[in-house]
Amino acid sequence: MPLLDVQDLRVHLPVRGPVWSRPTVVRAVDGVSLTVEAGEAVGLVGESGCGKTTLGRAVLRLVEPTAGRIVFDGRELTKLERGALRGLRRRMQMVFQDPFNSLNPRRTVGESVGEALDIHRLAPTRAARSERIAGLLTSVGLDPAHADRYPHEFSGGQRQRIGIARALAVDPQLLVCDEPVSALDVSVQAQVINLLRDVQRERGLAYLFISHDLAVVEHFCQRIAVMYLGRVVETGPSRAVCRQPRHPYTQALLSAVPVVDPQSKRPRIILTGEVPSPLAPPPGCPFHPRCPVAEGRCRTEAPALRMGSDGRAVACHLAGD
Ligand code: SF4
Repeated sequence: MPLLDVQDLRVHLPVRGPVWSRPTVVRAVDGVSLTVEAGEAVGLVGESGCGKTTLGRAVLRLVEPTAGRIVFDGRELTKLERGALRGLRRRMQMVFQDPFNSLNPRRTVGESVGEALDIHRLAPTRAARSERIAGLLTSVGLDPAHADRYPHEFSGGQRQRIGIARALAVDPQLLVCDEPVSALDVSVQAQVINLLRDVQRERGLAYLFISHDLAVVEHFCQRIAVMYLGRVVETGPSRAVCRQPRHPYTQALLSAVPVVDPQSKRPRIILTGEVPSPLAPPPGCPFHPRCPVAEGRCRTEAPALRMGSDGRAVACHLAGD
């Protein structure tokens, strides 16, 4: 049984227009199914606006799903009341993109990290609390003496380490990481990714790792799901998807990833046409207005996400096994 099992999840967000206009919704997530095994890292990739962040937040019920099921460790989150959900939230934490905005500037690092311990009553005495905070800071490569400092006294990479320490304070089983390194310098990104990997090995943590950077996802995640306009269009083992992408959208995304080898002849695929509005997604395959190989039926017939014999699934009429 997977640790996280998301089935046909939909998040449709109402949009307010002028009073005379008809009510409308953005289909931010439109029928996504995916699983995350215990100790596994699954990457969610796609351009901004594809719904990956909304999906990550819906998994933690920070955004209310419109339909579908989210089962975490055998319990269906979509049916839980707030009280029961609070208890389960301890086992699922989020690491945010911008570590500065996610930390309270008026609180010391120790207070921020200790807050979760207080909420879940995980440190019975002051001494136990201080010891736990010191241990958490050490585990993310920070000096425990820094517990009395404020967020502005740290670099971006150090602040992200504090954010990770805060998420780890409650011993979660799943971390939803929303672009955790994209706000950091390239030199610091590798350090934070290595830290997340060390933590994964030590604690058997599972990750839902949201990123627009396919190179980072290929390096860090065992499996990958590529999203376009609120749907998964390709999924499978990271290495296989990144080495031999089958969906034209994944191929275009990968062609934009810089390659170190100057001899590489990988052609760049430039997508033309506007990204369709999620308020009015096009009929048929949602990617057809931009797809370089679209054919007649793509304009009328939506391709299903079909699982191949090699554990890879692609939503494209032209994708073979
Ligand atoms: Fe392109 Fe058609 Fe495949 Fe959609 S179904 S990705 S439009 S070829």
